[in-house]
Amino acid sequence: RMAPSTEFPGNLFYAITFFGLIAFFLYSAGIRYRWFLRGQWVNRFSEPIRRGLGLIPFVLGNTRVARRKYWYSGTLHSLIFWGFVVLQVRTLNFLLNGIHEDASLQSLLGDVYTGFRPVMEVFSLLVIVGTLMAAWQRFFWRPQRMTLNIDGWIILGLIAWLMVTDIFTNSAAIALGHLDNPEFSFVAYGFAELWGGIGFTGQGLELFHVAWWYAHLVDFLVFLVYLPYSKHSHVLTIVPNVFFRSLQPSGVLQPIKDFETAESFGVGKVEQFTWKQMLDSYTCTECGRCTAACPANLTGKALSPKQIIIDIRHLMEEQVPALSPTTHRPEQPTPLIDEVGFDPIWDCVTCGACVEECPVFIEHVPTIMDMRRYLVMEESKMPETAQAVLTQLEQRGHPWRGTQLTRTTWIEEMATDGVEIPMFDGSQEYLFWVGCSGALQERNVKVTKATARLLLEAGVSFGVLGNEEGCSGDPARRLGNEYLYQMQAQGNIDVFKAKGVQKILTMCPHCFNTMEHEYPQLDGRFEVLHHSVFLEQLVAQGKLPRQVGVNGLSEKSVTYH
Ligand code: SF4
Ligand code: SF4
Repeated sequence: RMAPSTEFPGNLFYAITFFGLIAFFLYSAGIRYRWFLRGQWVNRFSEPIRRGLGLIPFVLGNTRVARRKYWYSGTLHSLIFWGFVVLQVRTLNFLLNGIHEDASLQSLLGDVYTGFRPVMEVFSLLVIVGTLMAAWQRFFWRPQRMTLNIDGWIILGLIAWLMVTDIFTNSAAIALGHLDNPEFSFVAYGFAELWGGIGFTGQGLELFHVAWWYAHLVDFLVFLVYLPYSKHSHVLTIVPNVFFRSLQPSGVLQPIKDFETAESFGVGKVEQFTWKQMLDSYTCTECGRCTAACPANLTGKALSPKQIIIDIRHLMEEQVPALSPTTHRPEQPTPLIDEVGFDPIWDCVTCGACVEECPVFIEHVPTIMDMRRYLVMEESKMPETAQAVLTQLEQRGHPWRGTQLTRTTWIEEMATDGVEIPMFDGSQEYLFWVGCSGALQERNVKVTKATARLLLEAGVSFGVLGNEEGCSGDPARRLGNEYLYQMQAQGNIDVFKAKGVQKILTMCPHCFNTMEHEYPQLDGRFEVLHHSVFLEQLVAQGKLPRQVGVNGLSEKSVTYH
């Protein structure tokens, strides 16, 4: 019944190893925490109830990990994770029992704890199944997206060993008659029966118990100490990372703080990232789901969002030796842009697929954009194509080089066909925002004309701005030129306010995202509707006829892109 650590010299060993390794764990966690304090401030404390409630599905429920597409990884992770949560009770009982039997949960809770023991037995088995599934994945399947290094094997080994040592310790305790209601720990009980069956008793069994007991203790403490130095540090950071997640749509970029007075723009050094971006890098599990979903990576570009997050962590470790004793340290710190690479920063199309896929809410897009802003606004370094677009935006107010069209060509062409497009004068309900593509690209002009005809047919009260329309600012912002974006966006907002615009219809998804989600950052608050949504409403209201069966059209679900 008594743990071997309750008598000398076991108690001395227990005290030294337990408190020594716990102190080391706190030290390891502390140096990381100090790094986060060096990061820039960002407020992620708003809406604490919503943030807290999110922990239930996203951490406890494992919903972002166990997606259908990744059912195998999701299943094994759920088995290990839920097992770990449940078995914390047994670990606590073990540690308290190591101090004194009367302090254990078994003593304090009595039948309640006994009744919970079969549940913990089941989860012990499930954790073992989960680790075997993970081992199979790493050894035979070897998905390309995952980082398959020794680190994963060490953690898997420590977890499996934790279960084995736990079961064997209990089996010996049962065989020695140390445990009441032994059948409640049915797995250990089975082994205890086996020891009895082969005549394993007496001093040998006592030693057997002591050996497994210490093996379990040491494994637990080694696991705890190793965690912060491994990619499995997400076990420690997942809760804060999910709690402090962005509550905004993933396509939204944040403005540069104190833009007028800022001494530098973007991020060119790792310490210019926010504490949340640093926390992100310590939460990455290296599962590779972000890179597997990245369209740039899938088309053979150098960009890997996973690698960018790993690179940032690597640079943090390079600068603080205690973070990772094994990391190679060059004489001069590696510049951030060199570590991440120029091309990956420019390969990103800011689609946000990586953010959507990431099971632990890492925000790659703002991180990449911060480095791009630095390159554009501090270093004037960008690919020729990006330079050409920015020059075009500055000089002509739109990104389409070589177009023969003007913003009013389509209006004039429709007038020639006898269709008058009203100009917005404040008396109409909707501003029909055409956008650069809708006015200046031949194939998009067809969509613009068709949309205008539908709006007229449905009797919608709308008007357009014609030559008063400018670029929404989205291309400049996504290319890292925040200054140009703010000029263009502010110009549009001023026009909208002067003309009394309240509702905006737009065909362009980029304009939609910018006006709906980013103009409010510049105090431009309007009701923005995408034309696909608006047209659907018109059909539902009977203002436009359903076209099913006409010209071969059938009722289908489609993804609009
Ligand atoms: S936002 Fe950039 S990094 Fe993320 S998936 Fe899209 S292209 Fe890749
Ligand atoms: S950033 Fe997220 S999705 Fe990408 S490897 Fe890390 S944990 Fe996985």
